Amino acid sequence: MSDNWKKRTKAVHGGTRRSQYGEMSEAIFMTQGFVYDTAEAAEARFQQVGDDEFIYARYGNPTVRMFEERIAMLEGAEDAFATASGMAAVNGALTSLLKSGDHVVSARALFGSCLYILEDVLGRFGVQVTFVDGTDLDQWKAAIRPDTKAVFFESVSNPTLEVVDIAGVSDLAHAVGATVIVDNVFATPVYSNAIEQGADVVVYSATKHIDGQGRALGGVVLGTREFIRKTLEPYLKHTGASMSPFNAWLMLKGLETLSLRVNAQTNSAELISQALEGHPGLNKVLYPTLDSHPQKALCLRQMGRGGTMISLDIKGGQAAAFAFLNALDVVLISNNLGDAKSITTHPATTTHQRLSPEQKVTLGITPGLVRISIGIEDTDDLLADLRQALDAAAAL
Ligand SMILES: *Cc1c(COP(=O)(O)O)cnc(C)c1O
Repeated sequence: MSDNWKKRTKAVHGGTRRSQYGEMSEAIFMTQGFVYDTAEAAEARFQQVGDDEFIYARYGNPTVRMFEERIAMLEGAEDAFATASGMAAVNGALTSLLKSGDHVVSARALFGSCLYILEDVLGRFGVQVTFVDGTDLDQWKAAIRPDTKAVFFESVSNPTLEVVDIAGVSDLAHAVGATVIVDNVFATPVYSNAIEQGADVVVYSATKHIDGQGRALGGVVLGTREFIRKTLEPYLKHTGASMSPFNAWLMLKGLETLSLRVNAQTNSAELISQALEGHPGLNKVLYPTLDSHPQKALCLRQMGRGGTMISLDIKGGQAAAFAFLNALDVVLISNNLGDAKSITTHPATTTHQRLSPEQKVTLGITPGLVRISIGIEDTDDLLADLRQALDAAAAL
């Protein structure tokens, strides 16, 4: 295995561990524990765990380890720890690092559950969080203090697809020694260069593009070996959010086809966003590499491409947005994303329902906003479906 391999090779072969049978497809080690030959061997393993040794599946498992090593290779990270869900990864990355009295700066535009951790959970344990507009480096600069312990943001925000400058924020954070934690779900490992650009810790919900076929929850935290093994692992292995071996196998298989799927989805998302821009039924098409997107240049520099998500602000508010959703035939209504199937959701009444009306206005979550995760179906079929649904919304 070579660190010089390109991403697509790493995604197929990285981290593979073959048993004595030389199996082609990665084995599922569906075991909770491991047997020791002697009492002395058990004692030795609890003192020092070797590379090919495991103690208990909550601490690690060979199939899970394959997934961790493969995605660490892909991301250019020294190490990784897989978790039961994306939220277990976000929570683990933050909670393992922080203690009462610490200060965190976070972007305001976050996935609902991330916002719950930053806004509700951390505060209950005495961590102070300052929220900023993630796209405004001046606000980061003003909010980061000499004692700031960590900064947190989604590199592309959900659902308004704002792009945060990873290198810019990292420079400001590193000047005070703060740890940069990036939720990189919308960028995907295919377009991510986050560690190279300055992130210390990268978090994914593997539920999204990495599985990409709607089968299982999963998450992963990536970072330096020091952070993963000394800070994160002790917290996660004792608090129990480990990934199951079966789900790790699904995620390994997902990684094999990740770039094929994500590039096909992005090809369609680009074409569809361009085709729909200026449509009379829309106030706005949000897609990071459209000329109209304020962070187009940053997105191209940071990710190379715009990703698989589009948001549309439909004229006529919630009634029109609902009419649009209900008229769709190919595109399904659900709240997952990154899937092979195209999926749409109305954030104001679902994923972001919990927010106050003022918070929704601040974040641009208008009553007419719909988020669309573009799948791998035929682009023409998707475009035709979206167009007929926009007609239905306009006919209200
Ligand atoms: C889905 C998502 C999560 C949470 O992941 P789960 O696997 O659902 O727990 C976190 N951050 C972002 C940006 C997401 O889209």
